[in-house]
This record gives sequence, C-alpha cells and structure tokens, in this order.
Amino acid sequence: MEMDVRRNPALLKLDLYCRGLRLDESCDLHDSGRGLRRTRAGLGSGLEMILPGGLWTNVPVSEPFAARSPYVLTREGDAYRIVRDGLDVAAVDLSPRPQWYDSVTRTHKPATRIGTLQGTYLGIYQARVCDYWTEKVKVNCKFCSVGLNLGVGDDADEKSLDEVMEVVWAARRESGITYVDFNTGHLEGETYLDILEPYIRRIKAETGLMVGVQTPPHNDLRRYDGLREMGVNRVSFCFEIYDPAIFREVCPGKHRQYGLERYLEAIRYCAQLGRRGPWHEPWVTNGEIIAGLEPPESSIAAIDWLTSVGAIPTVCVFRPLVGTDYSNLPPPETEPLIPVFRRLYESCMERRLPIGCAPDVHVSLVLLPEEARSFSDRRFPLGEVRRRSVAAVAGRFLRARMARRDARYAAPC
Ligand code: SF4
Repeated sequence: MEMDVRRNPALLKLDLYCRGLRLDESCDLHDSGRGLRRTRAGLGSGLEMILPGGLWTNVPVSEPFAARSPYVLTREGDAYRIVRDGLDVAAVDLSPRPQWYDSVTRTHKPATRIGTLQGTYLGIYQARVCDYWTEKVKVNCKFCSVGLNLGVGDDADEKSLDEVMEVVWAARRESGITYVDFNTGHLEGETYLDILEPYIRRIKAETGLMVGVQTPPHNDLRRYDGLREMGVNRVSFCFEIYDPAIFREVCPGKHRQYGLERYLEAIRYCAQLGRRGPWHEPWVTNGEIIAGLEPPESSIAAIDWLTSVGAIPTVCVFRPLVGTDYSNLPPPETEPLIPVFRRLYESCMERRLPIGCAPDVHVSLVLLPEEARSFSDRRFPLGEVRRRSVAAVAGRFLRARMARRDARYAAPC
C-alpha cells in the first residue's frame, strides 16, 4: 500500500479526518467555499473540499484537535494548497458554493435551513430534533451534535413540502444533484416514515432523483416494502457500534428503545428487498458504524457481518465535536483505521456488492468502500469490470430519466 499521502489521496482523506486541518491566515473563507456548518449527527462540522483524484471531503477545522494538525491550508489567489512541515502535500479546491445557498424560500426561510450539500448530494434533516435530546434526562448518543442545533438556526424545525421542493429544484438546477438524503433521529411513536413519505413521493414523481432515508428501524418491517415500491433507493441504519457493551454506553437511547439486535434485523430484512422490483429503481441497504469508538477488530466484524447479509457498510470516522459529550475524547489515530477501510473495500468486492454505482454522487462525510481500494493490495479484476459496467449502465439510465423530468416540470424559479 502507498503510504505517502501525496500519492494516495484516499489516505490523505482519512488522515485529514483523524488530524484535522489548520487554516493559514492567507485563507479568507468569506468569499469562497460553503462555510462551516454544524449539522448532522456526528460529522459535517468542517470545511467541504475536493482532494486530488476527485475525492470530496469534509475536513475538521473547528475542533481543538485540528489546531494541533500538521496540515495547513494556504491560499494564493484562487489556488488552495495543503502544506505539511513547509512542504506541498496537495492542491485542493474548496467545494463550490452555489447561488441558492444565499437565497431564501418563498416563505422567507434561508434555503440552507431546509437542506445543505454534503459533497454533491442534498441532505435534509427533516422533522423536529431527535427526542433523545428533549427528555428530562437526556439519552442522546454521546458523539452526537444534533440537539446542539436547537435554537442555533442551522436547521428549520418545520419544512413544508413546498419549501423542500423549492430547495430540491434549486439544488438540481444549480448544483446538478442526483440524490436527496433524508435523515431523522428518534421520534416518539416512530412517526419518522409517516413524516417522510409525502416528501419522498413528491420528489420521486416530479424529479426522478434518487432518494435515501436514514432513520431508526421501524417496528413494522413491512414499511420498508412500501419504501421499496415507492422507489426509494437507499435505506440506512446507524447502529454506530457493533460491540454490544460499547453500544449501550455510547448510544443509551438507541439501546433502551430499539436495541442493537433490532437494527441488525432491519438491515437483514431490507437487504433482501433488493431482489424485488421495481427494477428501474436501484436499492441499497447501508449499515452505518463509527470507527474509532470501538476496537478496529470490532469495526471489521461489523463490516463482515453487514456484507454477509448483502448490506453495504458506511464507515464514519469518530469526530469529537465541540459541545458534545465526547468533545474531550481524542480523535482516532490513522494507522489503526487503515485495516478497517482496507477490509471495507475487500469485503464489499468479495460479496460483489454494488459499490460506487450511484451516478454523480460524491460523499464528503465518509470514505467510501471504492475509495478505500488503494488501501488494499488485492485486486478484483472481474469484480471491478462488473462494478464499472453496472455504474455506467445505471448512470446512463438514471441521468436520462432525471433530464426528462427536468424538461417536463421546468423547475420553478
Ligand atoms: S439517534 Fe442518536 S445520533 Fe441520531 S440524532 Fe438522536 S442522539 Fe443523535
């Protein structure tokens, strides 16, 4: 494996997650980039940028550990570089800031309170804040920052159908998004799918975009049959931690309400729905874990379990966000995480899972399985050919469908 971050952008992406980045005084971010936002459960606090090799990422810059990073971002005119010990590491771009970021909806809400870009897709934190944050004795996940947004104004509590559609169309028109990701925390009464379904139906009907849903596991698994029929393309379940004792400690609310086993059961169930139609709608099931809060062997066991049932692992790198219960923990070191991401790629390829097939979707919050290819010396020539062929065919089909809808609905301005 290439261990020089100047020649291995995936390793640089991982190293930046773990060490963060300092901003040189030459970097004035007011006139470029997307600014810093504090959204998403445990990630997304950082600077969105594009590394060599077209790897989109979100680099920690606000957390205290980033102030000790060996990496520094410098700017000369419009050119940004990452420098380490005075030596050039990489030329990078800040992720483009679209005009719609500075617009308001017809109801006078800032568009970014409805949704924000994460890499190249639109992320929408729908519904009220996760109920674990509002109980008398909080039982929120200890890495999570969602409740810290209460009253801060990063996300609007109420997002009407029309407001969401307005921002989806703006993001489609100006940013060329192909995928919308909905996310909720725990809501009493397990109402999250009831809340999301009208939005999903309308986006699918009007735009033909791919849509994903990340919520806790609903107790009625048949609801996922309904999502499959509706044309949803991705369901994701964040169980975070595979070790049962650490899961209890890190995620007290999830443990009390659902338990690890219910997360795993939902993943197992949803993964087999891929075999059903509709065939014109791709379907993936993700299980999301956080590397760095449990031993690497446990993360690897989670990866192997997920791929064994046909689900694709999403592996986040623990980020001790300011203000969270775990803000004082150190970030993980890079080296112990390399085998985790190596296994991520190899395990997906061994099981022939459809990784990297969604057209024009670049993810900034995590290192994707296909991006971790450079961590492995193993090659899967047939698997890679098959993967690229599926991506090409799916990409042609889905892009054409979206373009037809663009023309048909002539997005409102
Ligand atoms: S379920 Fe946990 S991670 Fe998700 S929003 Fe609630 S506290 Fe945060």
